[in-house]
Amino acid sequence: MTTQDHSHWRRQADQLSLITRPFIDGDFVDSQGAETLTAYNPATGDMLAEVTACNAADIDRAVAAARRVFEAGSWSRCAPLARKTVLLRFAALIEAHAEELALIQTLEMGKPIADSLGFDLAETARCVAWYAEAIDKQYDEIAPTGEDVHATISREPLGVVAAVVPWNFPLMIAAWKFAPALAMGNSVVIKPAEASSLSILRLAELAREAGLPAGVFNVTPGHGAVAGQALGLHMEVDALTFTGSTATGKRFMRYSSDSNLKRVWLECGGKSPHLVFADCPDLDAAAQAAAAGIFTNQGEVCIAGSRLFVEEAIFDAFLPRLLEAARAMPAGDPLDPATCMGALVSAEHQAKVLDFIEQGLAEGMTLHQGGRSASPVEGGWYLEPTILEGDPAATPMREEIFGPVLGISRFSGEAEAIALANDSVYGLGAGLWTGDLGRAHRVAKRLRAGLVWVNCYADGDISVPFGGVKQSGFGRDKSLHALDKYADLKTTWVNLAYAPS
Ligand code: NAD
Repeated sequence: MTTQDHSHWRRQADQLSLITRPFIDGDFVDSQGAETLTAYNPATGDMLAEVTACNAADIDRAVAAARRVFEAGSWSRCAPLARKTVLLRFAALIEAHAEELALIQTLEMGKPIADSLGFDLAETARCVAWYAEAIDKQYDEIAPTGEDVHATISREPLGVVAAVVPWNFPLMIAAWKFAPALAMGNSVVIKPAEASSLSILRLAELAREAGLPAGVFNVTPGHGAVAGQALGLHMEVDALTFTGSTATGKRFMRYSSDSNLKRVWLECGGKSPHLVFADCPDLDAAAQAAAAGIFTNQGEVCIAGSRLFVEEAIFDAFLPRLLEAARAMPAGDPLDPATCMGALVSAEHQAKVLDFIEQGLAEGMTLHQGGRSASPVEGGWYLEPTILEGDPAATPMREEIFGPVLGISRFSGEAEAIALANDSVYGLGAGLWTGDLGRAHRVAKRLRAGLVWVNCYADGDISVPFGGVKQSGFGRDKSLHALDKYADLKTTWVNLAYAPS
C-alpha cells in the first residue's frame, strides 16, 4: 500500500535519474554495438530514455564473466550461510528502495503505483529473502546401499543460468528466477523485455551494493531476436529459464537443440478458465474476483481469468454484479494511488487488443461493457475494462489477448463446465466457485492446469509452486521445488571395502 498521494508520485517521477547501460561483470558498461531500445511511458506516450541494447558480443562478455566467477568459486563454492547473508542484504536493500523501484516499474510499463509498490516490490523482496533463508536448510542424501558402500546424492549448482523475462511483472518474475538460481550458487545473466529494462538495471546496482561478487549478477537489455537469441544459442549457458509467450518459448526449445542441449524451463501463455457454479456461496465475492482476475494489471497477466463460465441458473443474477465490479475498475493514471487499472504497455499492444474486440463483435459476441480506448491521461495507451459474451469457440474466448478483455459464456452441469474449461491449448490457472466441498475437489482434480483456485482467484504465496501444463510450459517457479531447476544431482559412490594392499 502507498500512503503517498498523486502529487508526490508525480514529483518523484520528475526527479528520477535512470540507468540505461547494461550491467556486466559488476559494472555499467557500454555496448560493443550502437543499438538502443527506446523506453516509453505508457501512461503518457512520452519517451523515458534510450537504453543500450546488447548485441551478441555483449552477451558473450556477460556469459564469460558469469562463467569466470563461477569457476573461481567465490559465490558458487562459498558456504550457503555466506550466500544467505548477501542475499538477505540484497532483499533489505530492495525493501529500502521499494518506492523508487516501484516508480520506475510503473513508469516503464504502465501498472498502477499501488500495485507496483504493494504487490510487485513486496513480492520481489520477499522472494529474495525467502530463498536466502531456505538455502542453509537444504540437506543432501545418503543412499541405502549397504555397509560396504557410502553413496551420496548431492546437489550442485549448474554454472551460468540465463533468465529471459517479460514486461508485465519486470522485477517479481525476474526474482522468481534469479533468487533460487543465486541461492543455489549459480551466476545469472538476465535479459529483460524490451519495454522494461530500467527497473532491473537499478536493481542491479543494489545487487552490487549488497555484495554479490562481480560477474554473478548481470543484466543485459536488448532485443529478443538478438540478445535473447544469443543467450538461447550460447554454448556456455547451462540453463535458460524463460517467461513469456508460447511462441517464444518454442524458439528456446529449438535454440537449445541447436546448441548445447541446455536445459530450458518455460512459463508461457495462458487462457485461464474461471467457473461459477449455481451453488456459489457468495455471488458478490465471485463477481469481484472475476473482475479483479481479468482487469488487474490491465489484463496483462499470464494467469488472467480471461474465460468466465457461469452456470445458466445464476447467469442473470451474476451478470449485473460482474458489470458493477468492472465499472469499479476504470482505467486511470498509474501514478494516482487510487487507480486499479493503468495503461497498456504500448500503442501496438493497445491496437492488438482492440482488434480482438472487433473480431469478437464480428463473430457475433455481445458487448456488455467497455470495448473502447480510454484517455484518463492525454497521449497514454488505455482501454476500458471490456466484457464480451458469446460462443466459447469465438476468438476472444480462445486466444490469449493479454489485455482487459473478459469473455463470458454459460454452462449447465459439472461435466460441461470441465469440458469447456479444459478445451484450450493452455493449462496455466483455473478457478471455481462452489459451496459443495465434494464438487470443489472433484472438479479441481479434473482441471488440466498447474494452479487451481477454489472460492478465490489468483491467490498465492512464495511457498507454493507456480507454472503450467500443456502449452503453458513446464517447470515451476517459486517454492522449494524451484531450487531443483538450478541444480544437478551428483552421485558419489565410495567403495568402503577397498583396502590398499
Ligand atoms: P515475449 O515472448 O514476446 O517476450 C518475452 C521475452 O522473450 C522478452 O525478454 C523478449 O525480448 C524475449 N524474446 C522475444 N522474442 C525472442 C526471440 N526470437 N528469441 C529470444 N528471445 C526473445 O512475451 P511478452 O510479450 O514479453 O510477455 C507476454 C507473454 O508472457 C504472454 O504470453 C504471457 O502469458 C506470458 N507470461 C507468462 C507467465 C507465466 O508465468 N506463465 C508470466 C508472465 C507472462
